[in-house]
Amino acid sequence: FVIPNFEKFVKAIEEIYWNCKSNTAGSNASYIPQLANVADHWGVSVCTVDGQRFSIGDTEVGFSIQSCSKPLTYALACEYLSPEVVHKFVGQEPSGRMFNEMVLDHNNQPHNPMINAGAIVTASLVYTLIDGKRSMAEKFDMVKTMMESAGGNERFGFDNSIYHSEKEAADRNFALGYFMKEKKVFPAKTNMLESLDFYFQLCSIVTSANTFSVVGATLANGGVCPLTDEKVFKVETCRDVLSLMHSCGLYNYSGQFAFNVGLPAKSGVSGIIMLIIPNLAGIVCYSPKLDDFGNSVRGVQFCEELLKTYAIHPYDNL
Ligand code: GLN
Repeated sequence: FVIPNFEKFVKAIEEIYWNCKSNTAGSNASYIPQLANVADHWGVSVCTVDGQRFSIGDTEVGFSIQSCSKPLTYALACEYLSPEVVHKFVGQEPSGRMFNEMVLDHNNQPHNPMINAGAIVTASLVYTLIDGKRSMAEKFDMVKTMMESAGGNERFGFDNSIYHSEKEAADRNFALGYFMKEKKVFPAKTNMLESLDFYFQLCSIVTSANTFSVVGATLANGGVCPLTDEKVFKVETCRDVLSLMHSCGLYNYSGQFAFNVGLPAKSGVSGIIMLIIPNLAGIVCYSPKLDDFGNSVRGVQFCEELLKTYAIHPYDNL
């Protein structure tokens, strides 16, 4: 086993879980009622690269993955189009700005695929460049099926109310779409509005902490799902995804998180944080109350406390 004393590890996780539970700071995302009205859930799930699992709290509650779709859309684009092609359209630099900021880099491209501008572009690459004859439904299935494979063939859902609300409340994302269209960020023949719609759909995919921790473990394991042994991603794809999660995964808290935790992670406005311990495990925290950056308060606290308990920062063992 990669974690020989799993019981001890579980005890540490439990202790941190209860520490974080008493923290009631933050507030739900308020831009749509479907996120604003969610109860004060708190759950943590762990899946190791050799398939040991542990869950505590609200880990079977379904929630939309939101920005946690971003690393997976990017992964799919890299697998099918190559990272070289993808990075003709989107950069690798943290923006230092809010996740939905109307800002491009010095090349007039989105800074990275982990913020809205970049994710709208990678969604457009998947939608427009990979086998253009496939319909929207088939493209959506491609992404969802890939997530399901990474999640050990557990079925993922789709929240239609979230999707419609997202679309209605998406003035900022529409503005970003038009701004990028004007700056010729998208590949030729892109239907920007359809690509945006595709992005809203990917944000509305539903999972639980328990299931999504398996996706994390697959990324931690170089692309092989620890439950099914299926090779879902190339090692190179995992390397690229994890690199960008490391530098850009928590919006404009990414630098501080990289300093404190040093591990790749990705957050979403529904209150999810997926933390990857390379070659060891995927951990998913779910708690809808967010801080000012849009990251789950308890999720960030959990990761930071875990790093105080275990010396797993890449520079802890120099
Ligand atoms: N649906 C959200 C948006 O596009 C996703 C962003 C997020 O999770 N931070 O605004």
